[in-house]
Amino acid sequence: MANTKEVVNGEEVTLEIEPGMDILEVNKQLAQKNMKLLRKHNVKAIDIMGSIGAGKTSLIEKLVQALKQKYSIAVFKGDLTTTIDADRIGRHGVQVLTINTGRECHLDANVVARAVERISLEDIDLLFIENVGNLICPAEFPLGTEKRVVVVSVTEGPYMVIKHPFTFMTADVMVINKKDLAEIMKIDTEQLKKQVKDINPDVKVAVTNALSGEGVEELIKALEL
Ligand code: MG
Ligand code: ZN
Repeated sequence: MANTKEVVNGEEVTLEIEPGMDILEVNKQLAQKNMKLLRKHNVKAIDIMGSIGAGKTSLIEKLVQALKQKYSIAVFKGDLTTTIDADRIGRHGVQVLTINTGRECHLDANVVARAVERISLEDIDLLFIENVGNLICPAEFPLGTEKRVVVVSVTEGPYMVIKHPFTFMTADVMVINKKDLAEIMKIDTEQLKKQVKDINPDVKVAVTNALSGEGVEELIKALEL
């Protein structure tokens, strides 16, 4: 049995990795450690998942604008190589940390633990984590957040829920974004809502236009913020 040592905010955590141990199981254990640490510091963290172009960054910008008086906010921004999104969010005067994942197509609990070490948890109470633009594997890697949000845009077509059931099963909140384009795209947002509720009856749904800010209040309510 091999041990890898993880140092999370000065606390030494020993993770026991057995040969052939499931990478998803290792991630789950690290996610639980992240959650414990964040809760200890009263930081509410929210994982925001969705394809490239679904509107994750625009939504975070609107959430930050609406909530920055009420909460002290930090944002982690997962990206393969660029800082474009981080620069956009940083304009709103909150702390933004880019996590460049290189070739990795999702964030995992380990990279989030590393990022958490670099911020002062005492000074923040809300942490948005924008995952890498990808609707599939981020769902399999919980990060240790209180809530998991999946953003889909009506421009992705009518089948994104039924094609990615696992992603929606693990979500607390689904955002249907670009509602202003629903009619043009011939997408019935009620139908999408029904599909996601069939898979996950407890999921909350917000229908938004992240550019105008329409529906952002609904999303804030769904996030219990
Ligand atoms: Mg983005
Ligand atoms: Zn991936």
